[in-house]
Amino acid sequence: MPGVFAVGDVNGGPQFTYISLDDHRIVLDQLTGEGTRTTTDREAVPTTMFLTPPLARVGITETEARAEGRPVLVATKNIADIAAMPRPKILGDTHGLIKVLVDPATDLVLGATVFSVDSQEVINLIALAMRAGVTASTLRDGIWTHPSSTEALNEVLAGLHPSE
Ligand SMILES: Cc1cc2nc3c(=O)[nH]c(=O)nc-3n(C[C@H](O)[C@H](O)[C@H](O)COP(=O)(O)OP(=O)(O)OC[C@H]3O[C@@H](n4cnc5c(N)ncnc54)[C@H](O)[C@@H]3O)c2cc1C
Repeated sequence: MPGVFAVGDVNGGPQFTYISLDDHRIVLDQLTGEGTRTTTDREAVPTTMFLTPPLARVGITETEARAEGRPVLVATKNIADIAAMPRPKILGDTHGLIKVLVDPATDLVLGATVFSVDSQEVINLIALAMRAGVTASTLRDGIWTHPSSTEALNEVLAGLHPSE
């Protein structure tokens, strides 16, 4: 119905606070802006399940890529084995892993799972890279603050190999 908007959890979309925030931006744009914003602007929306450590995801999984018959490069590393990731050791929680999927043709990130301390932050960076077309090589070669969890990208993305 024209002029009636369903914003947030009630509209049947993803039920997250930041999706409700974006719904509000769309309605504001429709009412007072250019009316160009829609839910189709939403690429690479990350999610985090606040376990200990948190489990964060964005994009497609390796299983989904396989189901589509899509060739992907994959890099996986256990947090405890990532020498270039000091934050979990500092915080005393080295559980988890990082897994990143990359398109072999374009070097663009297709998806990632980050299961570690700070994953709710690292996944936002990866999601932004996906939206902005930043390549996996750029993330791999990035200059990141130390000690941080972002540094893991230097090491994990150096281990990309074809998915088996
Ligand atoms: C336990 C739990 C944990 C969550 N954790 C996260 C998380 O970590 N991250 C995240 O992004 N999301 C999380 N969510 C989801 C998030 O809370 C919702 O997606 C978000 O609050 C939705 O915002 P909303 O404005 O659509 O609805 P709400 O925040 O539910 O706001 C709706 C408001 O409408 C009011 N209302 C209802 N009926 C009427 C009425 N008839 N008249 C007037 N007012 C009415 C309600 O009282 C409420 O204040 C969590 C949800 C739950 C339940």
